[in-house]
Amino acid sequence: MSLFRQFIASGVLVITALLSVADALAMNLDEIDQLFDKIERADISEPQAINEAIASLEAAIDKDDLPRVLRLSRLHCWNQDSTTEKLAAAAAVYANKLLGDPKNDTLTRADLLLCRGYYNRLAGKPKDALVDYDEAVKLAYQVESPRLIADARSLRGAILSFEGNFSPALEDLITAQHLYESLGMEVWSLNNLTELATSYRRFGDPQTAIRYYRQLEEKYRSQGEFNAATLVNSEIAMAYEAMNENAMALEYYRKTADYWESANEPLAAASIYVNMSGSLIKQGLVPEAKQKLAKAEQLIKIEHAGFYSFMKLYQAQIALQENQPDKALELLNQGEEAFNSIQNKRGLAELYTTKSQTLAALGDWHSAYGALETQNRLQNELQNQLQSQRTTEMRTRFDTDRMANENRQLLENQRLKEHELQILQQNKLLQLTTMVLVLVILAIVSVFAYKQAQRSKLMEHLALTDFLTKLPNRRHIYRRGELFVQQAKKQQSAMSVILFDADHFKKVNDHYGHDVGDKALVVLADCASAQMRKADMVGRIGGEEFLVLLPGTSLAQAGEIAERLRKAMDDTDMNDISTGLSLTISAGVASLDKDKSFSALLNRADHALYQAKAAGRNQVVLDGPHSLAADPAAEI
Ligand code: GH3
Ligand code: MG
Ligand code: MG
Repeated sequence: MSLFRQFIASGVLVITALLSVADALAMNLDEIDQLFDKIERADISEPQAINEAIASLEAAIDKDDLPRVLRLSRLHCWNQDSTTEKLAAAAAVYANKLLGDPKNDTLTRADLLLCRGYYNRLAGKPKDALVDYDEAVKLAYQVESPRLIADARSLRGAILSFEGNFSPALEDLITAQHLYESLGMEVWSLNNLTELATSYRRFGDPQTAIRYYRQLEEKYRSQGEFNAATLVNSEIAMAYEAMNENAMALEYYRKTADYWESANEPLAAASIYVNMSGSLIKQGLVPEAKQKLAKAEQLIKIEHAGFYSFMKLYQAQIALQENQPDKALELLNQGEEAFNSIQNKRGLAELYTTKSQTLAALGDWHSAYGALETQNRLQNELQNQLQSQRTTEMRTRFDTDRMANENRQLLENQRLKEHELQILQQNKLLQLTTMVLVLVILAIVSVFAYKQAQRSKLMEHLALTDFLTKLPNRRHIYRRGELFVQQAKKQQSAMSVILFDADHFKKVNDHYGHDVGDKALVVLADCASAQMRKADMVGRIGGEEFLVLLPGTSLAQAGEIAERLRKAMDDTDMNDISTGLSLTISAGVASLDKDKSFSALLNRADHALYQAKAAGRNQVVLDGPHSLAADPAAEI
């Protein structure tokens, strides 16, 4: 039973070990995936930390593990330096190279397209970027990956919004917003919300924009992201300016400029000074505007076209108020060029208003009228553009329910897919456990079967063996005797037996005790066994009576063997057992004859033994007509 317990215990051990090995492997992969998630969710944001995380992933991922190898390739793509246009262009080339890998699956391809588009946009190729984004959106829906759909639509939405294509921009950005929020991807969700709010501001809905910006500002401040919160503040200021709420706008601009000054970001502060000058002029605070613009002028150069253009416009407005129309016109021309270079219609419209006033001040009524006409045309274009987009935007807003529904469906599909995968993995583990259990049970059963076979072998051995002398017992040697007789008949060969009996054994017992008698019997048995050949067999058939089977042996040969045994016994020194002890035997020998039966053979041997006893013991008598009593003293 203890054996059984041992086996159960070792079985349990084996299972535990196997499960823990499987567990350790799963944990490792789990850790890899968790690190991927962390980087992708932007939970790790320090460049150094990201590089270290990527390096450790590289070391941990098996190169045959294609899904993770591809995931790593996507990370590599997104982790390129793109701080300058040149670097961004190089990053786009790198993304292009990764895209050429034939092992890419659809998901990887979609993400790499996004990556290439992103760098192309930074490298000043928004058209190329849009082509990649369109394709990426299509592929992302094909693979039904909510994360990728969110990324693709967020990036595409931002570009569309920048290009003034508001209605598809809003549809993209709202969809991405739902998805990011549902996936709990906070960093990306905030990022996208910023784009969304800015789109509303550009679109001419500053109220909605401000609502979103306020949410964002609060979020960023609570996270200690003060730079991000300040960027949002400047957007709020611009939204108030668009609503002509210049006092509010100024409040926000001042807060923002102070922050950048104290954060030692003079260029950021200078750009705010440009923006706030517009509100200052409208509020009649011209000296302050002049002072801010003078500060800005030190850092804002022509390559900062967005701010440079407005800086020139506001300087012109001040020059005009200060009765310097010539200077104003020159400034306006510089501003116009800058606005044209970035195709800012709204800026141009405002510029043309000032320009017509300047030309009028110069007495050039004709040109002044022309400028006013241009201003009207631009204003109308802007108005029409906004109007047509506003109707589509209304539709988009009412469509948000539909978009939310689609997103829910998408997320549900994703969850189902993940669930299926989980079940698949669980099944694998179950199969492994079952296999191990079956193996352990098989091992236990076979060990028990083996032990049982050993036991029955032992029982059989015990049942056929004499306990005292370890010789075959009567039953055993008789059975074997029958067998030898049959074989001898079949092969027509000789076969003899010796039946021998200890002389006066009763006296040995009486004189030395039963224990000594037992030991003497063992010596007798050992002596007989030692005398015999391999093919012969000695057995104990009674108390002090033994039988020897001698296959292939003639009567004469058997007689010789019997005599040798008798003499050996006679010569055996038994003083070791008890002083003065000696033992002799009498033997009857018979050989297979016409009768050909074992019992007849045994009878004749018994008869011969009887004769030996009667003739005085310690002698051998052969059966049959040749029967002659051996002289106990005779040497053979
Ligand atoms: P003989 O054969 O020479 O005519 O005389 P004997 O004394 O040997 O003959 P008998 O058959 O009368 O006695 C056999 C004795 O052997 C009787 C019994 O006490 C003893 N004996 C039988 N089996 C055992 C045994 O296993 N151990 C011991 N110590 N004695 C045994
Ligand atoms: Mg006897
Ligand atoms: Mg006897």
